[in-house]
Amino acid sequence: MKTIVVKFGGSSLASAAQFRKVGDILRADPARRFLVVSAPGKRDSGDTKVTDMLYRCYDLAVAGEDFVPALEAIRARYGEIAEGLGIKFDLDGALAPIAEHLRKGPQRDYMASRGEYLNARLMAAWLGWTFLDSAEYIRFHADGTLDPDTTYKLLGAAMAQTEKAVIPGFYGADETGRVVTFSRGGSDVSGAIAARAVKADLYENWTDVSGMLFTDPRIVPNPSYIPFINYRELRELSYMGASVLHEDAVFPARRAGIPINIRNTNRPEDPGTLIAAQAPAGTVIPPVTGIAGRKGFDTVLVEKSMMNSEVGFTARLLDIFAAHGVPFEHCPTGIDTMSVVVSADAFRPHREEILAALEADLKPDLLKVEEGLAMIAVVGCGMVANKGIAARILGAVTAAGVNIRMIDQGSSELNIIIGVREEDYETAIRGLYKEFH
Ligand code: ASP
Repeated sequence: MKTIVVKFGGSSLASAAQFRKVGDILRADPARRFLVVSAPGKRDSGDTKVTDMLYRCYDLAVAGEDFVPALEAIRARYGEIAEGLGIKFDLDGALAPIAEHLRKGPQRDYMASRGEYLNARLMAAWLGWTFLDSAEYIRFHADGTLDPDTTYKLLGAAMAQTEKAVIPGFYGADETGRVVTFSRGGSDVSGAIAARAVKADLYENWTDVSGMLFTDPRIVPNPSYIPFINYRELRELSYMGASVLHEDAVFPARRAGIPINIRNTNRPEDPGTLIAAQAPAGTVIPPVTGIAGRKGFDTVLVEKSMMNSEVGFTARLLDIFAAHGVPFEHCPTGIDTMSVVVSADAFRPHREEILAALEADLKPDLLKVEEGLAMIAVVGCGMVANKGIAARILGAVTAAGVNIRMIDQGSSELNIIIGVREEDYETAIRGLYKEFH
């Protein structure tokens, strides 16, 4: 029988009504046997996530202030869910050790983890499923990084013996039992780890959007969803700022060849976005899968005649950036010119030293900085197979009245990156969306 690991995010678990939707989704497919939960999130835009409420309790306790009202507010969140579901759940019993911990000198990760812990216990009680405490199965090294080997062994063994279980996301523990959390949004990672541990057929990540968007909805209203995206495309788009999953969630699933399906708890009928190495048979691959971009880049242009015959020139040039801890993002070259595109945040604090070193070491004919560039990545593995995509990209941006400052086609032919002035960024994205969506 198929096994699906499902992870529900905070907004999918913010209230009793949301819990019921989760229950319906689980019942709709018996292969959904392992449920990884976040802490209750916001019920509306003015609300506070339980994780943030827990951090607040921690801060109050550390400052020696009264944390009781803040803890009471957390109790009220869970109490409301339990009551709405009509279940008896010993909230006092579950909260007492947390209050005790706060009094004794709290540990930040432990406190943060209690949101997922309590939610998983509540959910397990409601569903009548087994509760598997991640502190026992998800193992961290002493330096705070995941110990994948031990984790897959422990968690895989526990899951193999369990028919249906609820697993709290976001945390695990080190060898001594001290709780350690992932970074914020880390329940996505826990879900991917659980999927890999049990060798699931599918990892479903349920959230409050119907998948990954073709482009930024703050620029293009109601953009379409991406039905399928491969891991490499996802990486390119995420790097340029498109976000749908915690970055570290992709790796375990990808390594194990487990597809990830992003789904919407509030619209379970929507197919969402499927992330996998290969598209399912019959999928029509469009030339462009998605468009993402970022502002905040500067370009350093170096011009020197006969540059191309000077062995080691590029290495010396990039070394100067590296020596100041400034990574380069792109590096388009001409015969006698080279542009180094850098993040303005990284570059500007070292600008004068870098320029002085470039002058001294490379003796360029021209050295010029252009500030305020935006980079737009047009991503799609379908580009390789389709003629004229580059022409369409350039045409669309030009038709939008935008001057293109830089073009870089990645050697993978998976993306074409164009640089435009920051003030033209939104116009260019809208033009590209119109052309390709
Ligand atoms: N509850 C944690 C957070 O708010 C982890 C998660 O939801 O994934 O970041």
